[in-house]
Amino acid sequence: MSGVDWSRRAVAQCAYLHPYIPGKPIDTLLAEQGISEAIKLASNENPYGPPPAAIEAIREHAGGVSRYPDGDSRALKKLLAAQHGVTTDQIIIGNGSSEVLELVIRTFAGIEDEVVFSSRAFIMYPLYTRAVGAVEVSVPEADGLAHDLDAMAAAVNERTKVLCIANPNNPTGTVHDYGAIQKMLDQLPRHLVVLLDEAYIEYMDSNDRQGSLNHPGLVICRTFSKAFGLAGCRIGYGVADAELLSLVNRFRPPFNTSTLAQAAASAALEDSDWVLERVAESNRQRTRLEDFFASIGLLAGRSAANFVLIRHDRSDWLLLELEQRGIIPRPLKPYGMENALRITVGTVSENEQLIAAMETILG
Ligand code: PMP
Repeated sequence: MSGVDWSRRAVAQCAYLHPYIPGKPIDTLLAEQGISEAIKLASNENPYGPPPAAIEAIREHAGGVSRYPDGDSRALKKLLAAQHGVTTDQIIIGNGSSEVLELVIRTFAGIEDEVVFSSRAFIMYPLYTRAVGAVEVSVPEADGLAHDLDAMAAAVNERTKVLCIANPNNPTGTVHDYGAIQKMLDQLPRHLVVLLDEAYIEYMDSNDRQGSLNHPGLVICRTFSKAFGLAGCRIGYGVADAELLSLVNRFRPPFNTSTLAQAAASAALEDSDWVLERVAESNRQRTRLEDFFASIGLLAGRSAANFVLIRHDRSDWLLLELEQRGIIPRPLKPYGMENALRITVGTVSENEQLIAAMETILG
């Protein structure tokens, strides 16, 4: 402790914040348990690694890192703009999609403004909201899992500046089709900024994401951390109205994404066959895991993403039992779900290991 009197305002505000609690790293578990191997099923990463083309691009650009990156990510934006049928000024690139979420909330919400989200959604929405001194409006799920879109729309008032939807949602895995999302957007004031967080969109049934979504304040956020296998690169993006993004860009730090991340993301976009094959395999494996957990009465609900949600009366005990066997799930206490564990869909052999471990633990 330094004994310094830090700003009272900062200390008071930070009392409402806590650092993000990530999934337990493999090295930590190995050291804790004194074991030599473990599998991490805690952070919804792609278990197949990065696309080969992305690894190649990182190698190719490694020699260029003595120079600053392109601060405007022009090459990547061009690819994304073509893919989304928009202009490059309708794209913003972030250090992970988390940065885009944060920048948008920071741009549009301030002290006494309100930000609306579902109570069991991505844990960073309340933290970003508190960080700017805004008021969080956390809307309960009608069925304990899925966003209640009507109740969220009804929670909007003249103080509301941002509304966040995670679709598919983390940690519940629930999803709404584009028809339902558009129906909600139609109920909202035109100036309201809507963060539609599509971090897991690639895993969602393609029938549910047909058609376009229209709302002037819509910001669609996507990431390269999940299906594209680049979580360690930290890169994601938003698609929105150009004028809206010109405001957000004023909060964006210089050179916020690295040369290697930009190159890897561009290469990954062009290796879409690799990505789609892994997504299809992951979805088959998800069904396999869900069927298994349903058969032993632990499945909390079906998921539209690359993870499954289970409940157990003694989830702390189950977590420890799995960890002792070198398997790292994600406890959902920080999300207010006491008895729930979230388990990322792994490779075929990782999932077999998980099923075998569960059978041993539960007899
Ligand atoms: N949104 C959701 C719903 C997520 O689950 C995550 C990552 N866990 C993110 C956004 C952020 O991902 P990243 O910053 O790696 O793009």
